[in-house]
Amino acid sequence: MELLNGKETSLKIQEDLKSQVEKIKAEGKRAPHLAAVLVGDDGASKTYVGAKVKACARIGYDSTEVILPGDTSQDDLLNKIDELNKNENIDGFIVQLPLPSHINVEAITSAIDPSKDVDGFHLINVGKLLKGRPTFVAATPLGIMELLKHYNIETEGKHCVIVGRSDIVGTPLSVLMSRKTNPGNSTVTLCHTRTKNLKEMTLQADILVGAVGSANYISGDMVKDGAVVIDVGITRVPDETKKSGFRLVGDIEFEGASKKASYITPVPGGVGPMTIAALLLNTMHAYNKVFYP
Ligand code: NAP
Repeated sequence: MELLNGKETSLKIQEDLKSQVEKIKAEGKRAPHLAAVLVGDDGASKTYVGAKVKACARIGYDSTEVILPGDTSQDDLLNKIDELNKNENIDGFIVQLPLPSHINVEAITSAIDPSKDVDGFHLINVGKLLKGRPTFVAATPLGIMELLKHYNIETEGKHCVIVGRSDIVGTPLSVLMSRKTNPGNSTVTLCHTRTKNLKEMTLQADILVGAVGSANYISGDMVKDGAVVIDVGITRVPDETKKSGFRLVGDIEFEGASKKASYITPVPGGVGPMTIAALLLNTMHAYNKVFYP
């Protein structure tokens, strides 16, 4: 079994981006600029935005953090988005989810200029993904594709079983994995809460992806021998031995699955850091106006 080390791979991608930024600056041009909007003070969201801003600083991107109170109205948030859309010095921006319940997420993602939508959530970008056109791809599925590419994982003709069909992970990944690309060209099965006999499905997976959000939901006996196992799930589980009071646990029971897998992502240190690398890649794409093929 080999670990798919997302942390290491993410740092390699960031090193490459850093060299590109140095070249850009040496030519006297401004650096790529990512902005992140955070509404409210959700602890996990603050951590995610903080990690994204830190990564920008590490590779020489400019970044702007826009922090708004939890009672910000939808109209005020839309005005802020309009400002960011019009700001020529900002190449791309994200609005960190989840948003407070009084704000309509669809209204917000639809208001972002599609050419600055580095999260790839805008309907136009989702449509382009379905049609196989160059676009922004949501950071987590894009990060997974980059990880498969980095480790030269054979995906053609393989059966990829994805558990979880969210708009931001499972569904776009199912599209990417079934496209005529490399990585891609897999036969994809997308599972969810109405799937019958989940174990029967997961046991067929040459490539198994857990994107459920339930700690250790997929046990080792649900994994086929030799499978490539990708764990997207991140659940905070109380742990008194940790300073934070919790630890992060994936959807796939690591100990059991790692005995069967040929490759497996750890949690943390697998898909999480790749999501950040993918966001930085998307920001460079926005800067260069060259998108994921
Ligand atoms: P989500 O929107 O809650 O979607 C969860 C999906 O899992 C849904 O499609 C749901 O099915 C399915 N599901 C839930 N319980 C199930 C069960 N018992 N059996 C089969 N399917 C089940 O979650 P998400 O946003 O995709 O996130 C999933 C996990 O990934 C979370 O832990 C999240 O924190 C993590 N995540 C990690 C990263 C990263 O960077 N590493 C990024 C994004 C998300 P239905 O559609 O039928 O309800």
